Amino acid sequence: MTHRITLIPGDGIGPEVCAAARAVVEAAGGDVDWDVQEAGATVMEREGTPLPERVLESIRSNRTALKGPITTPVGTGFRSVNVALRQDLDLFAAVRPAASLPSVPTRHPGVDLVVIRENTEDLYAGIEFEAGSESIGILREELRRLAGFEVRPDAGVTVKPISVTGTRRIVRFAFDFARRNGRRTVTVGHKANIMRFSDGVFLEHAGEEAAGYPDVAFAECQVDELALRLTSAPEALDVLLLPNLYGDIVSDLCAGLIGGLGVAPGANIGDEAAVFEATHGSAPKYKGQNRVNPMAMMLSGVLMLRHLGRDDAADRLEAAIAGVIAEGGSVTYDMKPTRDDPTAVGTSQVADAVIGKLQAA
Ligand code: NAD
Repeated sequence: MTHRITLIPGDGIGPEVCAAARAVVEAAGGDVDWDVQEAGATVMEREGTPLPERVLESIRSNRTALKGPITTPVGTGFRSVNVALRQDLDLFAAVRPAASLPSVPTRHPGVDLVVIRENTEDLYAGIEFEAGSESIGILREELRRLAGFEVRPDAGVTVKPISVTGTRRIVRFAFDFARRNGRRTVTVGHKANIMRFSDGVFLEHAGEEAAGYPDVAFAECQVDELALRLTSAPEALDVLLLPNLYGDIVSDLCAGLIGGLGVAPGANIGDEAAVFEATHGSAPKYKGQNRVNPMAMMLSGVLMLRHLGRDDAADRLEAAIAGVIAEGGSVTYDMKPTRDDPTAVGTSQVADAVIGKLQAA
């Protein structure tokens, strides 16, 4: 069966890593019909917005997208395309696996973690009050009246909403994920002792939902302690479930544990659509140089194939990427022992090497 997939090349290094990922997904027998949709800096001048409605319509209709990184324009009044996509399509779950790969230089060889991050609430909900604005004056008065709390007159404020509904759906998602993928434990990271009515909601309702999954263990850990455990014994952890902000920070930490952004894939999943993308950004300084690592994007393609039920193609592609890494010859600078290693190859050569492995298999 052919899968029609929205392909968003993005900007910066996006088009290069996407071309590599597209080529290897096809070579793995992914059977994909790509619906290419430009977004980001490249279309802003032409179409007046970095996220034209046609892109959202394409994803809604195809239900699955593979997306390159997109630069967040600074000072143009446009919100981040990446945040906008998650909000407009209600992609409430970010899934970021972090597994040590053989031959990738790292201090932590036995890591096999998955970070699941709530994607729509928390301090990222966008409820912002600028210092000195009229609205913060009203907010200060209300806080004084409601809680007897005196906010300093020169403070800016970001509000942290965490709902029972938002919590329960991400908890169910995490436990269903754990069950489907043969995982043993879901550990919730929080700071419920300090933020009793936001993180407190997350922890309490996570515990209640978890009771419906007797086959998956539920654990909880304060996020600062979790940071310590991740740097001392990350191999002892399994699925981590976190509210939005902690999830953002912890997933980059986990990418660092397994060898960096060049090999860290990700997915943003909702009830109606799923968008697969690398954890890294558009790295504008490397744009057009055929230099950066396409493996994070390729591994996002592996996640996409699994999501489509194409485990056969996903297994082949994952094995081919692992084979190229294990041989160590055809890898980019970030996977060499030193960054200026003259034997490092470029983005497109990595794709050629992976395709070579697929053809030889
Ligand atoms: P970045 O991830 O783009 O780059 C930071 C550094 O990480 C790079 O300079 C490079 O040294 C390294 N790096 C990143 N990707 C790599 C790869 N594939 N191979 C090898 N090395 C790699 O982060 P940034 O510089 O903070 O962000 C640049 C832009 O990307 C910003 O506009 C940001 O908003 C955007 N961004 C987009 C997304 C997304 O599209 N989902 C995610 C993060 C950042």
